[in-house]
Amino acid sequence: MTPLLRDRSRRNATFAALVLLAAGTWAKSSVCAAQAGRAEQLARQQSSGTESPLPVFELHSGFWVNLHHFLYLQARLRKGNSVSMDSKRGTAPPNEVPASLIGFPAEEIRAWQAAVAFYAKDLAGRDLLLNSDMETINNRLSEMETCADLEGKSSTACRSGLQSDLVETLDRAAPVYRAHWWAEQDRANREWIAQVAPMVRQMGVQLSEQLADVYQRPWPARRLRVDVVWYGGPYGAYTSLNPTHLTISSHDARNQGVYGFEVLFHESSHALAGAVTEAIAREFRQRDKPIPRDLWHALLFYTTGELVRRDLAYGTMTIASLQGAVPSKYQPYAARFGLYSGAWEGFRGLLDLYWRPYLDGKISFDTAIARLASAQ
Ligand SMILES: [Zn+2]
Repeated sequence: MTPLLRDRSRRNATFAALVLLAAGTWAKSSVCAAQAGRAEQLARQQSSGTESPLPVFELHSGFWVNLHHFLYLQARLRKGNSVSMDSKRGTAPPNEVPASLIGFPAEEIRAWQAAVAFYAKDLAGRDLLLNSDMETINNRLSEMETCADLEGKSSTACRSGLQSDLVETLDRAAPVYRAHWWAEQDRANREWIAQVAPMVRQMGVQLSEQLADVYQRPWPARRLRVDVVWYGGPYGAYTSLNPTHLTISSHDARNQGVYGFEVLFHESSHALAGAVTEAIAREFRQRDKPIPRDLWHALLFYTTGELVRRDLAYGTMTIASLQGAVPSKYQPYAARFGLYSGAWEGFRGLLDLYWRPYLDGKISFDTAIARLASAQ
């Protein structure tokens, strides 16, 4: 299936692709009118006659979300903050450099520098995921994707309701961003989506079922909103949960090829992690032990990486989208990009010993978590 919605007529050239994970009858209520016709056609083509909902990734390349993250990056570069990787987790990829303004008209330079200064003053010091204001901004800008402005000049539906100085900043920076960077970044986002979509179609149903099974939580029934952005924060991706909203960088060197596919499912796993975090908390408390920070997160990385590795090795994914990766030699993301270092140093060994037997079907979920807690 190719992208279902490709509407270049709108000013901001919005782009969305639905990647369907399973055959079934399309849940009409969850589809916007523009997508319904093609989606139903696809559902009919694929229908197995069941009434199950259709799990879907809804992948977007949205103008405002991209502008917001790009300004955040530029402001962090200006402040000298880490932009690509927290020092606690692995080694940093080559440094990003501030966007060049050489040759820009003076008024564009002024508008852009004012916007970067606005972000540098406060927003750039906040965490994209952990700060609730940043979460709200990201969610709201994602919803405003098709709006020409955020003040509601073009339509009352486009009144963002965000802080007025932020709205003003983004509206003023928008023409500069559109003229100089958006086309290239949007292209990179679309390419990333085109690269990942065939892998999702070929291996996504199986992997989503495996993850739901491992985490003892149903795969989310609603479409998963994914905003693909050129810059996606220090880790290249993050997921907020109210509602579930994935933001993934198309440009980050760690998110390419099969790793992009692994990242998509790692991020999705955040919506399934409830039973894991509860069980870890319970088992450590029962033993009067401090709960290791991030053990649950290392477990999520470990699990997705291991399942992708196994699915590749068993030949589920055999298509050209592997891009030269040798399935039997696939190194999961966390190992490949040095996540098991610093505070995460001991997690890999622990997970190998006590979590892997559960993935192998040898012990139960509760036993695996109990053993992890006993061993720590
Ligand atoms: Zn994560």
